[in-house]
Amino acid sequence: MRFDVVTIFPGMFATVFQQGVIARAIQRGDIQVQAHDLRAHTHDRHRQVDDMPFGGGPGMVMKPEPVIEAVEALRATNRGPVILMEPWGERLDQELVAHLATQPGLIIVCGRYEGIDDRVRAALQAREISIGDYVLSGGEIPAMVLIDSVARLVPGVVGDPGSLAQDSFADELTGWPQYTRPAEYRGMTVPEVLLSGDHARIKQWRRQQAAQRRDSSKLRHTKEVKQP
Ligand code: SAH
Repeated sequence: MRFDVVTIFPGMFATVFQQGVIARAIQRGDIQVQAHDLRAHTHDRHRQVDDMPFGGGPGMVMKPEPVIEAVEALRATNRGPVILMEPWGERLDQELVAHLATQPGLIIVCGRYEGIDDRVRAALQAREISIGDYVLSGGEIPAMVLIDSVARLVPGVVGDPGSLAQDSFADELTGWPQYTRPAEYRGMTVPEVLLSGDHARIKQWRRQQAAQRRDSSKLRHTKEVKQP
């Protein structure tokens, strides 16, 4: 699967994807991640990618031409959908991640400033995706979140497919408390059931714990949302 990213800060991607599972997947050729400099698609001396908003107001808006031309150039080698990272977009969740992982590739545009000229959306038939209801200073970190979550589902990227099956959200009841050695640290012990070797009991305990965790985090969430 191929991920092409359009950004004014391509250097941000090099370091992040040089580590861990994603880096190994790139080395093996299971996925490709390329960050492309938006400024390469400007035509003026100052390589300007932003301009003042029509109608007034603070900040700058990303010009449509460089973005559209950058994406058009990438379409020759990437047949996947175009995604604009935007805080007001469709919220990224594991279901959407799984859907995107079935695509041949993704072309991802990172916004900056006050956002991207709205004509880009229609011209590219793009899908806007948000990583949550908060505002970051640019689309690069959201794009990394998207790439990381989708890449994990590309066959071969995560070495042990069993670890995907047990990820939180893969099934309704996962995300149980995990422990490793030592069995006791500063008086804190690992639940006895996990040391019992009784797999049926372990399974039951994990499902119970996962359900409990989920309920209490939902509760916390509702409370926070309801507060004025
Ligand atoms: N004033 C704008 C915020 C622009 S933030 C507004 O209120 O909508 C600048 C860029 O950062 C956006 O164009 C987008 O690409 C990125 N960005 C910020 N927060 C994001 C989020 N939660 N999800 C996805 N992209 C985000």
